[in-house]
Amino acid sequence: MKNVKHLKCVRCGSTYKATADATTCECGGILDVVYDYDYIKTIFNKDVLKSRDDQTMWRYRELLPIEEDTAPQGLRVGNSPLYNADKVARILGIKKLYIKDDGVNPTSSLKDRASAMAVTKAIEAGYSTIACSSTGNAASSLAGNAAAANLKTYIFVPERAPKGKIAQLMMFGANLTAVKGSYEETFELSKKAIEKYGWYNRNAAINPYLSEGKKTVSLEIIEQLEFNAPEYIAVSVGDGCTIAGVYKGLYDMYNVGLIKKIPRLISVQASGCCPINVAAKNKTNDWTPQEENTYADSIAVGVPRNAHKAINAILDSNGITVNVTDDEIREAQRFLAKECGVFGEPAGVTATAGLKKLCENGIIEKDATVVSIVTGNGLKDIESAINNCPSPVYSRNDLDEFENEFQKRGIKIE
Ligand SMILES: *Cc1c(COP(=O)(O)O)cnc(C)c1O
Ligand SMILES: [Zn+2]
Repeated sequence: MKNVKHLKCVRCGSTYKATADATTCECGGILDVVYDYDYIKTIFNKDVLKSRDDQTMWRYRELLPIEEDTAPQGLRVGNSPLYNADKVARILGIKKLYIKDDGVNPTSSLKDRASAMAVTKAIEAGYSTIACSSTGNAASSLAGNAAAANLKTYIFVPERAPKGKIAQLMMFGANLTAVKGSYEETFELSKKAIEKYGWYNRNAAINPYLSEGKKTVSLEIIEQLEFNAPEYIAVSVGDGCTIAGVYKGLYDMYNVGLIKKIPRLISVQASGCCPINVAAKNKTNDWTPQEENTYADSIAVGVPRNAHKAINAILDSNGITVNVTDDEIREAQRFLAKECGVFGEPAGVTATAGLKKLCENGIIEKDATVVSIVTGNGLKDIESAINNCPSPVYSRNDLDEFENEFQKRGIKIE
């Protein structure tokens, strides 16, 4: 990979060769991919992008850690819409708001960006089996992308994972273990099994390439905004890999000279599980584990494995942290669906819940342009969605009854 210099430990600074199955540093720290931006600038610029037909995440391959002759594997990931949400911007009292709907990816979450990278690297490294632990979306996206790439999967999710995600996993043919315990215990079991059987490891904190896949979301945002960086980008945060990836994409765009400043990241966590935000707020990397008290399952991560990269991303972007209650997440889910037509899963709308709270508290400047990322589709978790909205009107095939039922609800039919 001529574009990659090496891997560098975010904790101790040791460097390693960027092999396809690299994991963590000897010190236990996670590794970051260091690029040769001087070289990249000679092969990558706005015109290269403009003339490129590839509409997937791989259109940014000069900024991605794959060998020059590697054929990308997996499903058709990326190019998700960036909606101009003027009405919501008016309600929130900011100049411009864009909603980046990553729930439209092939398995309906942003995790596809990491999983497509993972299966590509696994095949590059010559593996035939790939494994991960996940709160649900990393798992279902890995299973889908692996199915497309002809890899076998072993997957570990907490027993509480929503049924939609379990259905995806079983349909994609994963060898699925629903672990009786917390996400932390799920991760530990996957780690033991991966060590014992030597599978390719798609755990985001262990595998240095996954945040590089996720970063394509911010590369896309910048290109969709014609290289005018917004003031803020809001992201929901669990393990921390996503926000680290969002930052990395912005850092890349800055270093190849395609944006002039790096947007401030808004890190949104659930009040019932916010170890990364607590540490970032105290400007320290020294985070403390928490319980997993939120119904937003994808961000219920009490022991975040990517905390270090995530906290760096928040601090290096001069970011803001905000925590939201489950009720605020429920409200944001209805709000975003009704006002924008974007139906996100609970963790998927958490960024917007946090942004809304910051706007209501007057913390975001009125002339700001903000992008809020929706990280997962609402159909993943039907049960919590149904509990979060009114029931339909029920009627027999009878116009009077139909009208009566609406009248009972105080809705005028017109
Ligand atoms: C995984 C996930 C997140 C958070 O990403 P992390 O890398 O765990 O911080 C947010 N929303 C959804 C829908 C997710 O699946
Ligand atoms: Zn180290």
